[in-house]
Amino acid sequence: MNALVTEPAAALIGEPTTDPFIIEAVGLTKVYGAQRALSDVTLRVPPGTIGLLGPNGAGKSTFIKCLLNLETPTSGSAKVLGRDIRARNRASREKVGYSPEQDCHIAGMAGCEYVTYCGQLSGMPFQVARQRTHEILDLVGMGQERYRPVDTYSTGMRQRVKLAQALVHDPEVVFLDEPTNGLDPSGREHILNLIGALWSDLGISVIMSSHLLRDIERVCDRVIIIANGRVVEHSSIEALKNRHKRIVELNPASEPERFCSVLEQAGLTVSRLSNGKLRVESASDSIEWMLELMRSHNLPPAEIVANPDALHEMFIKSLAAGHGNHT
Ligand code: ADP
Repeated sequence: MNALVTEPAAALIGEPTTDPFIIEAVGLTKVYGAQRALSDVTLRVPPGTIGLLGPNGAGKSTFIKCLLNLETPTSGSAKVLGRDIRARNRASREKVGYSPEQDCHIAGMAGCEYVTYCGQLSGMPFQVARQRTHEILDLVGMGQERYRPVDTYSTGMRQRVKLAQALVHDPEVVFLDEPTNGLDPSGREHILNLIGALWSDLGISVIMSSHLLRDIERVCDRVIIIANGRVVEHSSIEALKNRHKRIVELNPASEPERFCSVLEQAGLTVSRLSNGKLRVESASDSIEWMLELMRSHNLPPAEIVANPDALHEMFIKSLAAGHGNHT
């Protein structure tokens, strides 16, 4: 059970799912006229923080909307938290939160009124919804602005209120469609921190769409790359990097010159980066031996990153593959 709020939520949301996958899709396809927005998507996604990465128009929103039963798939089937997406029942909605790409507030309503109303729509009694609203608005960092109409909010505040309405009913999984759109660097940082904490601190799975690789890399442990409606990659980010881990970045904890010469004496090509790190081409697929080498010289690295560019390389390759598959 998520520990998002103080009020016991069992009566409202039932037992957490025992299904090992939060999403299971088989041949999920959505066609709009001549446009194949989603093409034959088959995958199984375990709980965690999952990035849905792809350029604008790739099919990310369509995928999310089909999973939420806001769009009817042309063919194929899917389950979210073990429930068929075609089941239009309250039990399904209670466990799922959604923050759409576009603004979704009601004109004239204050932030706290709006979030309370969303809680009530998910089946919560008014008093419980109101209490949780304040807890969630505190969590997303919203102060006294909560009493002002949402229409008067900055983009950052609107993104926060959208996140709050997706969380108010203590869901097991939230779908966040481009949650950092329109934010300045500090606003983006704040929202990304919050999103990362949903899984790590509260156990709420996150499906977050973005066209920005760095946002996905920053908070997600898995990635689904979509191009032209097709899933061209679905993997944990760590596994993706491990598949391509011949380039390694090391951050010497001390004695950078000696650190560098030990690596060079071992026959490795070392480049010094402007941030003080060393970029090394590994001779083997395992980096353990390199760590062992440094430890034996009493120079354990402060940080080691295997193939820092792997995700970027994969993203670019996947986009090319997606173009090839375009129908
Ligand atoms: P993304 O979220 O990755 O930007 P979308 O899922 O919004 O992509 O769109 C995928 C494709 O489907 C795009 O070519 C878009 O124009 C098209 N599309 C999305 N919704 C509709 C719709 N309601 N009617 C017609 N075409 C649509």
